[in-house]
Amino acid sequence: LPPLFEPARPVLQKIEDAGFEAYFVGGCVRDTILGDQIHDIDIATSAYPSEIKAIFNRTVDTGIEHGTVMILDHGTGYETTTFRTESGYQDYRRPDQVTFVRSLAEDLQRRDFTINALALRENGEVIDLFDGLTDLKKGLIRAVGDPHERFNEDALRMMRAVRFASKLDFVIDGPTLAGIKDNAHLLAKIAVERNQVELEKLFLGQNPPAGLKDFLATGLYKYCPGLSGAKDRLSALLVTGNGWHLQNTDQVWGLLATQLGLTGNGIVHFLKQWKTSNDTIKQVKKIIPAVAALHYHQLDPVTMFKTGWTALTDANQVASIYGWQMAPADLQTAYDALPIKSGRELAVDGRTLIQAAGIKPGPALGKIIKQLTHAVVTGQLANDRPQLLQHAAELKQKEG
Ligand code: ATP
Ligand code: MG
Repeated sequence: LPPLFEPARPVLQKIEDAGFEAYFVGGCVRDTILGDQIHDIDIATSAYPSEIKAIFNRTVDTGIEHGTVMILDHGTGYETTTFRTESGYQDYRRPDQVTFVRSLAEDLQRRDFTINALALRENGEVIDLFDGLTDLKKGLIRAVGDPHERFNEDALRMMRAVRFASKLDFVIDGPTLAGIKDNAHLLAKIAVERNQVELEKLFLGQNPPAGLKDFLATGLYKYCPGLSGAKDRLSALLVTGNGWHLQNTDQVWGLLATQLGLTGNGIVHFLKQWKTSNDTIKQVKKIIPAVAALHYHQLDPVTMFKTGWTALTDANQVASIYGWQMAPADLQTAYDALPIKSGRELAVDGRTLIQAAGIKPGPALGKIIKQLTHAVVTGQLANDRPQLLQHAAELKQKEG
């Protein structure tokens, strides 16, 4: 077992000693067998939440109605979920009712894909009821059971399939792919927040064009906000060359907005439909003009100043997909050469201008600060207090 599992082994052992079963399950098992890095560990157990709480001194109820209890052990938290079946899928969404069961097989059966339905015992034994190991070897994403039924139970699984195609650089098995094509319209029933997470993961995977290709071919895009008419534009991304890599979700939305040709309010409207955070909206509004500037080799000091370093590096990463990027070292040098990086660094502030240059508070003051900032950023004026005050006085006179 890889090192990350080691500290969790005594936890599983303790559950077994109490007479229950406990396994590592889900993504951590899949990724370990693939030799990929794992980031978190999920444990499934036959013990009910109350029984887990009786075995361990320190636990946190993180999702007790779904059977999830966090066990605290030597400063680490382990999410433990009771074996469960899900029933009463209404509206093609995640069920509102879960039933705790004592059988591992029933728990594995409700999982989405065979590669996600593997369990690993504390002693290293792998439980593979659906040929998930074979699929892992072949690089196949295959639904557990009948794809049509499984996608009708929970339509989000279709988006999960295409995002795993990208994340793992896997191929979706024929019948599973056909099941997605037949049921793509059900995606419209899914809360956009859940869909958002999967779309982001698709674009952050190992092979985004592979996932995107399936996303388009299955028709899933038709049931996503702002994408139903975008097949051609999105397809164009498939020929931008492979091996592209995005590093964060702001870059994902920056790429999508760039590819859709969005500007100004169009960006805001699109992102609000997807319910992204306000912070992402703010960043993407900066990323888009910077990408355009990189495209046309017009990345001037004013654009860099307005964009800021974080959005600028995000823009450069988006631009790299199109071959418009600057060498990171050159970008850094250009940015470092800015006389000031933010308005706060201007050698005069509003109060100084009122007191020392006799400018009245109000719109005129704002305008003068803007002009001073522009002059400093473009190198027309040094960021020097006496010079700026003098210039402010001249501006005030000109304005009358
Ligand atoms: P990642 O590494 O991206 O987190 P993961 O496989 O751990 O991948 P999660 O969303 O964390 O994905 O889900 C954990 C496990 O729960 C999955 O491996 C799968 O067994 C099960 N699962 C998650 N979502 C669903 C779903 N919608 N339908 C069926 N099973 C699911
Ligand atoms: Mg996970």
